[in-house]
Amino acid sequence: MIYLDYQATTPVAPEAAAAMRPWIEEKFANPHSPSREGREAAAAIEVARKEVELAVGLEGGSLTFTGSATEAINWAIKGTLEKAPAGRNRIVTVRTEHAAALDTCEWLERSSVDVTYLPVGSDGLLDLDDLKAALDESVALVAVMLVNNEIGVIQPVAEIARLAREAGAPMLCDAVQGLGRVPIPEGPDLVAVSAHKIHGPKGIGALWTRKGAEPQPFIHGGGQEQGLRSGTLSPALCAGFGAAAKLAKERFEPDDRHVEGLWKTALEALMPGWIVNGSVDQRYRGNLNIRRKGVDAARLISDLRDIAFSLGSACASGSGRPSHVLRAIGLSDREARSSIRLGFGRYTTEQELTGALQRINEAAEAQERFAA
Ligand code: PLP
Repeated sequence: MIYLDYQATTPVAPEAAAAMRPWIEEKFANPHSPSREGREAAAAIEVARKEVELAVGLEGGSLTFTGSATEAINWAIKGTLEKAPAGRNRIVTVRTEHAAALDTCEWLERSSVDVTYLPVGSDGLLDLDDLKAALDESVALVAVMLVNNEIGVIQPVAEIARLAREAGAPMLCDAVQGLGRVPIPEGPDLVAVSAHKIHGPKGIGALWTRKGAEPQPFIHGGGQEQGLRSGTLSPALCAGFGAAAKLAKERFEPDDRHVEGLWKTALEALMPGWIVNGSVDQRYRGNLNIRRKGVDAARLISDLRDIAFSLGSACASGSGRPSHVLRAIGLSDREARSSIRLGFGRYTTEQELTGALQRINEAAEAQERFAA
């Protein structure tokens, strides 16, 4: 199988698997117990926390582990609204956010929170004038992602955070697709990340919070994580996340160069038949979301079962609904249904990519011949 679905998840790095192994096979102490073994597990968690903090790279805050980035985003949004000053009852977000943010906002709208969903241009980018116009003293939170999971475009997070601050509102940045791939800009007050997008294990995420911006607790219980997120932590998952984060920081430049090379190879192989969806310049280059006239993307995926790639978003795949992101950038249903997302990264070889692209092109041409 050739794996070209790096936005859905990434292969676990051998270093992350090795860091997890002792905590699965030999050591089982509860990291919150005062025994010697418990303290050893707690110490391993703190090492991992530091490594993830360093990979996030922001000053003036701390990191709380969660069960996923979805949980971190739910917690950040709901817990910030809960502690917002009287009169601040509105969230400003963008139509192309991940479902973890959009569905949480929709859920809050049922309990009388107001939400402003800002549009994006055909390049997938937010217009800062639209944001300025939406900000006033009723805003409790601005939530905008760094790198879009479907089309890879990079939102101007530093400017967004500055405008949010000027309006007196904290900013949440979903940096799940950005961590380890692009620098996380200074400015946001809350940053959500996930281990499995950086070659770590599934089932663990984290919320970085600027001091003073900690949301109200969302999960109540044993008071772990400074009372912010109860529940026994998994030393194995934390250690895997920490090792993956350390590697992501160390390999940032070589990974970036590798991805840039793969991007060039892909464009040469795919153009002029395919069109890139969203901005080409303001984009993480390991995400190639493309469309081709007349292609039935779902059929392409089923024709090429030994190549793993995706229809727009892994989350929306199979739902039959055209992607909300592709619609937001102005694509027709037909164009959205002829779009595929190719995601590559650290462990993708040039040879694998070239071989897969040749077969994708052949399958697309065969569809065209059949339709003619
Ligand atoms: N945000 C973005 C941009 C994502 O791509 C994803 C995962 O696909 C998530 C949030 C949710 O992350 P997790 O799988 O850790 O819940």
